[in-house]
Amino acid sequence: MSDVRDLLHRLARLLSTTPTVCDADAVAALLADLALVRRVLEGREIALMSRLAELADVDDSIDPERINAAATARPARAGAASARRARAATSSPELRRALDAGSLSGDFLDAWQTAIGLLPEHRRAELASLEASLVAVAIAERWTIDRFRDRLRHESRRIEDDGGQGRLDRQRRGAGVRAWTDRQSGMWCLSGRFDPETALSLQQRVADELERVFHGERPASCPADPLLAQDWLRARALANLINGLGGAVGDPEMIIVIDQRTYERGEHASTRVDCGGLEVPLDVIRAIAGRARFVPVVIDRHGTVIRQGAPVGSYRSVFDSLAHPVALDHGRTRRVASRHQRRAMRAMYRRCPVPGCERHVSLTEAHHVQYWELGGPTDLANLLPLCRHHHDRAHAERWQIEVHLDRSLTIRRRGRVTMSTGPPAAQWV
Ligand SMILES: [Zn+2]
Ligand SMILES: [Zn+2]
Repeated sequence: MSDVRDLLHRLARLLSTTPTVCDADAVAALLADLALVRRVLEGREIALMSRLAELADVDDSIDPERINAAATARPARAGAASARRARAATSSPELRRALDAGSLSGDFLDAWQTAIGLLPEHRRAELASLEASLVAVAIAERWTIDRFRDRLRHESRRIEDDGGQGRLDRQRRGAGVRAWTDRQSGMWCLSGRFDPETALSLQQRVADELERVFHGERPASCPADPLLAQDWLRARALANLINGLGGAVGDPEMIIVIDQRTYERGEHASTRVDCGGLEVPLDVIRAIAGRARFVPVVIDRHGTVIRQGAPVGSYRSVFDSLAHPVALDHGRTRRVASRHQRRAMRAMYRRCPVPGCERHVSLTEAHHVQYWELGGPTDLANLLPLCRHHHDRAHAERWQIEVHLDRSLTIRRRGRVTMSTGPPAAQWV
């Protein structure tokens, strides 16, 4: 447990400071205190629940979940989650120590537990043996939870060492769809998870149908706001497909990224294959490749797409396709980014380029850096793939974004720099 006096001091400061007199730095300092206090309290909760679990082991009348739910006036499932965490903590001593000290949050314990559970039983000890070193580096380098999860995935892949086949088998077994009616809005909601192999074809089907309804006639119920319309049309595309009203079946699509030197001089390529953010074992890619469309793109040394071919049915036709490049600049002739442009952005970016954002590029929307309303063209150089959240913010706060030669960004609000990023090429490392 971190120094109690220090903790109480922070808590007192947190509760006694009037937010209205704080500047941004003072608020940031208080938020850091708040996060620490929260982490320590989370660690305390886990310790208390562990004690309940011990007591329950010797006294059958004690039910930790029920006691937690009753004491905290939370639903039973929240009590169950706390009890689960406590049980997980007993088998992860290093994480438990870090939680007690407030150095890591409970998310880390959850991610750790998930990673262990995803490995086949005879391989779990191998990951467990890394607990101390991973926890130490996560604390020392102040990892975010996403960074920690990435690292766990990487280690698990290394430990399993079967080209991802075991993981894919588990993912196939882990598929499921849940449907419910939201009490407040009365809307029917769907949530589903699919293994990446199935997802490849599903994503493609939805993308194809979305493209079709996008260019079709818009019914009156389609929102006028372009962002809301995207959601609406996606729902429409999915409904069409389920109702058997969808268009022709498309093939899975892979983007083949070729660097400029390779293209011009035919040197050996360090080719990467993009499957829309899904991790698919190479064998599966090879199997799909027989019926896939390939989209060849050439990037320059800054990672900018300078030439792109139309999709072709065979890997061998990739260079023929590049001989007749598609248009990536539409000027003022269309407002919405074309499918070609969206493919180009997928080749250039892995994620939403706003600092700290982890949304994959396949979940982004094309934003006009120079606003369309202000005469900005729908040219590739003027487009930026922003996730829904940052796209909304960009418009609401009228971000002025400067895109540099390597496509690193400077983002200004009312003339003041609020954020800047490195080049997106670094996202691929
Ligand atoms: Zn926009
Ligand atoms: Zn974002």
